[in-house]
Amino acid sequence: MPAKVAEVHSGIYEVFLPLPMRPTIVNVYLIDCHGAWALIDTGMNTADSVATLEDACRQVGTRLEDINVVIGTHHHVDHFGTSATIKKRSGATTLLHRLEQERVNRMLTLGPPSQNPDAMAFFQTHGFPVDKYPIEGMRPTWMGTDQYNPVPTPDRYLNDGDVVMIGDRELEIIWTPGHAPGHCVIYLRKEKVLIVGDHLLPKITPHVGVYPSGPTNPLGDFINSQLKVQRFDVEHVLPAHGAVYHDHRHRANQLIEHHRYREAEMLDLVRRKPQCAYEVASQIFGDEERPIFHVMAATFETLAHLELACVEGRAKKKVENGRTLFQTV
Ligand SMILES: [Zn+2]
Repeated sequence: MPAKVAEVHSGIYEVFLPLPMRPTIVNVYLIDCHGAWALIDTGMNTADSVATLEDACRQVGTRLEDINVVIGTHHHVDHFGTSATIKKRSGATTLLHRLEQERVNRMLTLGPPSQNPDAMAFFQTHGFPVDKYPIEGMRPTWMGTDQYNPVPTPDRYLNDGDVVMIGDRELEIIWTPGHAPGHCVIYLRKEKVLIVGDHLLPKITPHVGVYPSGPTNPLGDFINSQLKVQRFDVEHVLPAHGAVYHDHRHRANQLIEHHRYREAEMLDLVRRKPQCAYEVASQIFGDEERPIFHVMAATFETLAHLELACVEGRAKKKVENGRTLFQTV
């Protein structure tokens, strides 16, 4: 497939890779480091995506085999799913945050939900109607297939504040937990470029949810990460989905406001009567028939808001008849 490539800053190329799901495109970034090539995020490991990446490399004057460094902003299938394929062909050094490596290994070893008692208990305590939805449908279709082909252990971990030198470029690592626990954005200080992964998408709000074995207050982390990136001076914001834009501070504030509004809306609902996350989600997002993934995302994103409200002392929770109920304080 011929690749669509845009030079968004001198020697920094945005490459649009196809996804077999929504969103239908992920943007990855090829960086000419003058003597070396870096790739930020990888796309999903489908034949279509790999062929598109090969063509993009050709268009910018390199080859997939000549990529020296692959950095994953986080472990998700569209961001790190081709890293093992690229490493095999190019010998590239791979970098990922340690917390994301843990998630990669979890993804690679996690069995079906029905064989995971912790997950089932988690779904039940938050009121998710496991009898209404086919449990096996909770597993994404790419899981356990070669569409997700991440390196199980990166060559190097990304740490907050690291400066990764590649050729003549300096890539600063900013740890931005929230959407994923070890999500990182990459800052090119001289160029005033910020490669944001899913942290600061221009049009959509990235999913932030509470999951078994994950952080307990991811929305609090996400909001802190939005405040954190505002300290950096940026002219070009390069997202993983959607168009390149300029005002990252404005967008970060919009995202914070969006979640604060949602939190207030949910607290209103649990003011009179304690409710579980699923009940609150049904009222906020509607309870018509929807694919199980949307219902799960809505439930666990609602839970993230309710947990944040508890941490902030605006709500409290109790367990009653096996259900975790939240109520406004
Ligand atoms: Zn993601």
